[in-house]
Amino acid sequence: MDRREQKKLAATDLYEKFDMRVDRHWSEKNLEEMTERDWRIFREDFNISYKGSRIPQPMRSWAESKLAPELLRAVERAGYKTPSPIQMAAVPLGLQQRDVIGVAETGSGKTAAFVLPMLTYISRLSPMTEENEAEGPYAIVLVPTRELALQIEVEAVKFACYLGIKVVSIVGGQSIEEHGFRLMQGCEVVIATPGRLLDCLERRYAVLNQCNYVVLDEADRMIDMGLERQVAGVLDAMPSTNLKPENEDEDLDEKRIYRTTCMFSATMPSGVERLARKYLRNPVVVNIGTAGKATDLITQHVIMLKENSKMFRLKQLLGELGDKTAIVFCNKRNVADVVAKALDKEGYRVTALHGGMSQEQRETSLESFKTKRYNVLVATDVAGRGIDVPDVSHVINHDMPEKIEAYTHRIGRTGRAGKTGVATTFLTLHDAEVFYDLRQVLVQSKSRVPPELARHEASKFKSGSVLDRPSRRKDRAYGH
Ligand code: ADP
Ligand code: MG
Repeated sequence: MDRREQKKLAATDLYEKFDMRVDRHWSEKNLEEMTERDWRIFREDFNISYKGSRIPQPMRSWAESKLAPELLRAVERAGYKTPSPIQMAAVPLGLQQRDVIGVAETGSGKTAAFVLPMLTYISRLSPMTEENEAEGPYAIVLVPTRELALQIEVEAVKFACYLGIKVVSIVGGQSIEEHGFRLMQGCEVVIATPGRLLDCLERRYAVLNQCNYVVLDEADRMIDMGLERQVAGVLDAMPSTNLKPENEDEDLDEKRIYRTTCMFSATMPSGVERLARKYLRNPVVVNIGTAGKATDLITQHVIMLKENSKMFRLKQLLGELGDKTAIVFCNKRNVADVVAKALDKEGYRVTALHGGMSQEQRETSLESFKTKRYNVLVATDVAGRGIDVPDVSHVINHDMPEKIEAYTHRIGRTGRAGKTGVATTFLTLHDAEVFYDLRQVLVQSKSRVPPELARHEASKFKSGSVLDRPSRRKDRAYGH
């Protein structure tokens, strides 16, 4: 590369950064400044996806949540500096009394995600008095095991104590008379295993006459343990006068009390879906993906090659595409342009999308890709992220991104909504900085690790952990 070309490349780099700054990152924006695109990037950053209608935006921070000041203080005292992704998504939904199905892995903070809206709901009701305590709790949480009930009790009390809300757990191991006694003394929240609670209900030790808020925690485990009948038995003992309207377009009356039913689960087996269909009204399904773990639906290939054979391999891959669609990711906009032009010249139906194009050009390009006028989209991350790109069958990384997170986002453009997809990545020796992370991702997803990568020293140690070598990326050259 001669000096002039080098200078041009440096200028492009600068422009790329400048462009990013003009379109500031969501974290630098006030809530009012957030655009639809910012929200999409936000959701991607935290792997939040939704299914359902009329979904409120997630909360970016506790301060931006609509939680009462007492609860915010309690959250602070608990040491929860930022909400976890499931909390970001589920708390705003819970505060609107929406029915929610939350799917997120163990240890991701699901308890607070349902406890905080539940306590908010209770705090709006008249305090428990001698008159109404015999009518039973305001809210119940059903859990598969006794240990879990006790664990949730601890988490719930952490917040409930600041609101003067009483929490009682009803699990096996204590006498049913004792349960009856504790329930009679009045409490707003009951945490119970379904079998035990059903027993109490059938023997009239417990009633649920004013209970309109129910959470099924670890619903998948309850189904696995054969507790579906007991769960249904408890739900059927709740008043049915407050069910939400069937029509999802109908507005909920903010002042009314509706039955709110939430389910939290690490997976969605068919038993959970069956319960949800029967007991939830217009639920929103929140799914928190696992960051860094590429979905099992994507077959990942990595090809080790030289910079100047990329074009040849790319054409080969696209030649096998037929009328299916592909996105080709490049790290830099000038490379994207070069690649798109070269493919276009050879008769491929190709369009480009990157930060150097006007908003109008981007939209036109994306639209024509969506409508399949073009079946190949050559894009950079700047343009690709946060844009609602439809499902594609093949993602090709013409350049390996510098960060493994970007890799995961890119290949996640395929294998969506239960469909399978293929991701092929061109890797050169210039990408050594991500060798380690990439190898981890490939091993985790049981994909083939090319021998050149497996052998390479940089794939064995985390970058910078052994020798702090100067970056080799600077003198990167592009072949044609
Ligand atoms: P899950 O139900 O998803 O398995 P838990 O609700 O039991 O997860 O939470 C796991 C741990 O994380 C608990 O110790 C909890 O106190 C803690 N935790 C929950 N939310 C936060 C947060 N926003 N910040 C820090 N720690 C949190
Ligand atoms: Mg849990």
